[in-house]
Amino acid sequence: MLNTVEKENLNPYEIVQKQIDAAAALLGLRSDAVEILKRPKRVLAVSFPVKMDDGSVRVFEGYRSQHNDAVGPTKGGIRFHPDVTMDEVKALSMWMSFKCGVVGLPYGGGKGGVICDPHEFSKNELERVSRGFMEAIADIVGPETDIPAPDVYTTPQIMGWMMDTYSRLKGTYSPGVITGKPLSVGGSKGRNEATARGCVFTILEALKDSGRKPEQTTIAIQGFGNAGRIAARLLTELGFKIVAVSDSRGGIYDAAGLDIEKVGQLKDDATILEYVGGTVISNEQLLELEVDILIPAALENVITAANAHNIQAKWIAEAANGPTTPDADAILREKGITVIPDILANAGGVTVSYFEWVQNLMNYYWSEVEVNEKLQTAMINAYRAVKELSDQYKVDLRTGAYMISLLRITEAMEARGWI
Ligand code: GLU
Repeated sequence: MLNTVEKENLNPYEIVQKQIDAAAALLGLRSDAVEILKRPKRVLAVSFPVKMDDGSVRVFEGYRSQHNDAVGPTKGGIRFHPDVTMDEVKALSMWMSFKCGVVGLPYGGGKGGVICDPHEFSKNELERVSRGFMEAIADIVGPETDIPAPDVYTTPQIMGWMMDTYSRLKGTYSPGVITGKPLSVGGSKGRNEATARGCVFTILEALKDSGRKPEQTTIAIQGFGNAGRIAARLLTELGFKIVAVSDSRGGIYDAAGLDIEKVGQLKDDATILEYVGGTVISNEQLLELEVDILIPAALENVITAANAHNIQAKWIAEAANGPTTPDADAILREKGITVIPDILANAGGVTVSYFEWVQNLMNYYWSEVEVNEKLQTAMINAYRAVKELSDQYKVDLRTGAYMISLLRITEAMEARGWI
């Protein structure tokens, strides 16, 4: 017999278009604006050869998508991952536009991706792939056009190499072409922790609304990269109990709370699965644990119609981009689970990227305290604005966040005479 249950659409490009439609309909947004916003302005597909250490040549494919530059140059990370697709990069660039809109940063959204598994590379190979991709996209990026940054499996060192390649090609030292750089070449203090720190600020604001204290609150974190790992540390410092974490190989769980420093050491030296005193669980199990807060901090589409019914957390703070599908969102809403959406919860990274870019353009650098204070102000203001609008329209925080962004970008498109 044929399966009559319709399969959920997991294409991130179509998902973000659905999210735009939902918020635009509530706003009664002009249809010409919606048509512009539902697709990126420019997508570049590249392939480039790289000499590997054994003398062979491998050809890599990658993309750079620039969604909308009505409010300023486009901005967003570059990911190195085997599952990168053009539609994924397009969607991620669109989420960047709306993320910048939520915080009110003077940027549109961009995103890049290279189809590769960087774990297979030697350091020299990684450098050649990084420089090769920057060379391939150099014509369309720049401090005033499109500014990349780190994303999944890319690092400050990679940003340093890319900045160097771009600067050599242009013949001028151009730190403002990319953010998330090492401090020695124009990186900003606080940038490395910014995604996690911003996420923590939104969690604290959400808890304030509920009157709950950190000490009474348990957390599970899916993903132990830049966002998840640093969030685990910061939340532990604030007194929260992290009961489960995972990476791409699986997770560990201890109801009494994990020693996050030990988990970090294991991540560096071996695998977190060797943690003593915890139970090994799968990523799927982690998502369904009975915890107060769930933080998806890895990739898209981990909370779908297939598992949303089983989610037991009261809050979900999306440190990842696109972890929840629209069908799952509807189920979570029905269950009374509050989702702090990606375009708000993980906006701290691009916010401090903006600070880094401003410092690069001024050639004047701020203290870490200054950066973190400015980040805190930006995140709290963004959260409160989203919460207020969501309450006013009686919609979830994601829809409220989209509404704020759509209005900001549309206003700029009108002011520029595009519509
Ligand atoms: N990759 C991060 C994000 O998805 C940061 C982007 C940036 O700093 O430009 O928000």
